[in-house]
Amino acid sequence: MQRLTCLDRLLLLLCVCGISACTTTSTLPTAVDVDRKQNLVVPQGASDTVSRAYNSVIRSIYQVQGLLDNPSVQYQDQRVQHIFKRLIAHVDAISPEASGWTWEIHVVDRGIVNAFAVGAGKVMVYRGLIEHLALSEDELAFIVAHEMGHNLRLHMRENLSNIVPIYVAGVGLSQAFTPWSSAMVMDYGVTKTMSRTKETEADRIGIELMAHAGFNPLAAQRSFVKFHDQEAMDRDALAYNKIIPRSTYLRTHPLSEARESDVKQQSEKVKSIYALSNKYIATDQPLSNKSAVNLDYIDGYEKLYLVGRIAPETVITRLLHANEDVSFGTDLGYGWMLKRTTQGGLNLHAGLSYFHGDPQIKGDFSGGFAELGWVFNPHWQVYGRVVSAQDIDNAQRKKQKFAGGVRWGDFQRGHLYLEAGQGRAKFNADSGWANNDLLEFGYAFNFGLF
Ligand SMILES: [Zn+2]
Repeated sequence: MQRLTCLDRLLLLLCVCGISACTTTSTLPTAVDVDRKQNLVVPQGASDTVSRAYNSVIRSIYQVQGLLDNPSVQYQDQRVQHIFKRLIAHVDAISPEASGWTWEIHVVDRGIVNAFAVGAGKVMVYRGLIEHLALSEDELAFIVAHEMGHNLRLHMRENLSNIVPIYVAGVGLSQAFTPWSSAMVMDYGVTKTMSRTKETEADRIGIELMAHAGFNPLAAQRSFVKFHDQEAMDRDALAYNKIIPRSTYLRTHPLSEARESDVKQQSEKVKSIYALSNKYIATDQPLSNKSAVNLDYIDGYEKLYLVGRIAPETVITRLLHANEDVSFGTDLGYGWMLKRTTQGGLNLHAGLSYFHGDPQIKGDFSGGFAELGWVFNPHWQVYGRVVSAQDIDNAQRKKQKFAGGVRWGDFQRGHLYLEAGQGRAKFNADSGWANNDLLEFGYAFNFGLF
């Protein structure tokens, strides 16, 4: 339980006054079901400044990495620009001022299945989305129109406007519940629910916009069927398909099957708009050489990443050594895909490693590591790993590890690992290397950087 501070009371008052003064809707009346009132208390100019700054940081990073405008996405980028232009020509049917925005879109040469909008008319689409889902031009037009829908509904401005009310509501809830349970209620009950509502709105605005621009709204449905197929393959690869049920409540996006049936229903409402539109004729050349939904995931491994590992002592590790600590470590490294085949890929990682609580030699060690792995699919990997490090406080104390292991999980986020091998330690300058068997079972958090 907490008491409300003066600042919390002031924020609560400002919140109530601000929201009641600024609750409005950002778009014209639509043919689809989108008429929710929004809290837009943050001025448009402030929200646009944040969006533009965010967009230019991301764009600059991708530019430095050579991921924009390079030959492998040139054709996709050219088609995306064409589709985008056509959609922009119709935004005034949804929001008249939006035709004056500086709209900008890029195709990023990375294998991630995603696209996003940051507000102020800025959109990014990843090559992986086009290739994994083997998108047609109409389906791509829906994805782009969906991202434009987030822009047109001013979702970034709304998110910024809701920061203070969500904070105040969290403080209010923590009066009645523990901070942990109130944080859970706010996350699953409020933030994720609001996020799903915005996704549905962007879908609906997207199909209306695409209908105005002459893209067949039925493509929206087809793209969700593809999303669903891709997710099912992904879950099969992770092998937990039957264990963990899919639940909409844990998600920022509604389930793709729910989105499919929603756009199917809403497509009926834009039929007449599409019938009157100047129909889009797609080019004969496909957007990628993939003809079906696929798990050609391995491009996602080529990036700078930060991994945090935690390995609690287990019964098995206790048999091998008297380790009383939880050991943990981090790697900052870069991954390359040396060989790509239809059965998986050969992956090389190298970088800096830090670890603490090693069972053989206590202390904080830092050094370098190199790792060669075979990636079977997005969720299974075997690897060999070499680490050479020294004690941060005493350069004479050294540690080397030669190990192999298996990883299971989602490498973009977190995975379990089991690693076995040999460790050797030098306790001072005069001592020789002392060998030790090692077995580590733990969990790793993966923070893919860029
Ligand atoms: Zn979205």
